Amino acid sequence: MEEIVMRVKEIAPLPHPADPGASIRARIQERCAEAKSYKGGDNLFESAFGINARRGVWRLRSDPLSASNPDSIQDGAELYISALEGKASLRIHLRRERSKKLIDAFKATLLDPACEACGMRFSDVYGDLGAGYIEAHDKVPVSSLDDEKATKLSDLAALCANCHRMVHKNGLMPVEELASFLMQLKSNRI
Ligand SMILES: [Zn+2]
Ligand SMILES: [Zn+2]
Repeated sequence: MEEIVMRVKEIAPLPHPADPGASIRARIQERCAEAKSYKGGDNLFESAFGINARRGVWRLRSDPLSASNPDSIQDGAELYISALEGKASLRIHLRRERSKKLIDAFKATLLDPACEACGMRFSDVYGDLGAGYIEAHDKVPVSSLDDEKATKLSDLAALCANCHRMVHKNGLMPVEELASFLMQLKSNRI
């Protein structure tokens, strides 16, 4: 749990909740079917040693999203924790809730979507298979763990799958920063 709290403090902007551990625990338990505070919905987490052991070690259920709802990766507020190398080294990734409708509306505004960071078009690489494909990225960082403000169209950026991973690699990198980084990289290679 301490590792999660440290990681959240790194990536979540101020102000932090008075007791970040309690706040994170509450969010996890709301998404764990064995916990008292579970209210239905995505059953994402399980306690590594059993809920009654109270050891504070949590992990993702195996493939929880596809098991419950294949679309939830698109439209849910997701908190991902993955255990690394079999020990309690945990990574947290908190995404603001966003609606599938909004993502669809955003994509409908893009005729031939190109990645805003690297400029790649899926149709260039995958032909008809990739035509129109792009990922919607929420540019606005969460301001607190309880922040579930609605996302606006202008909060979204169109990114290819690779650039999307890269902006999320260390916290949340601004899309413009990745774009200029890639430009620089390209000009250094010429
Ligand atoms: Zn890209
Ligand atoms: Zn994203």
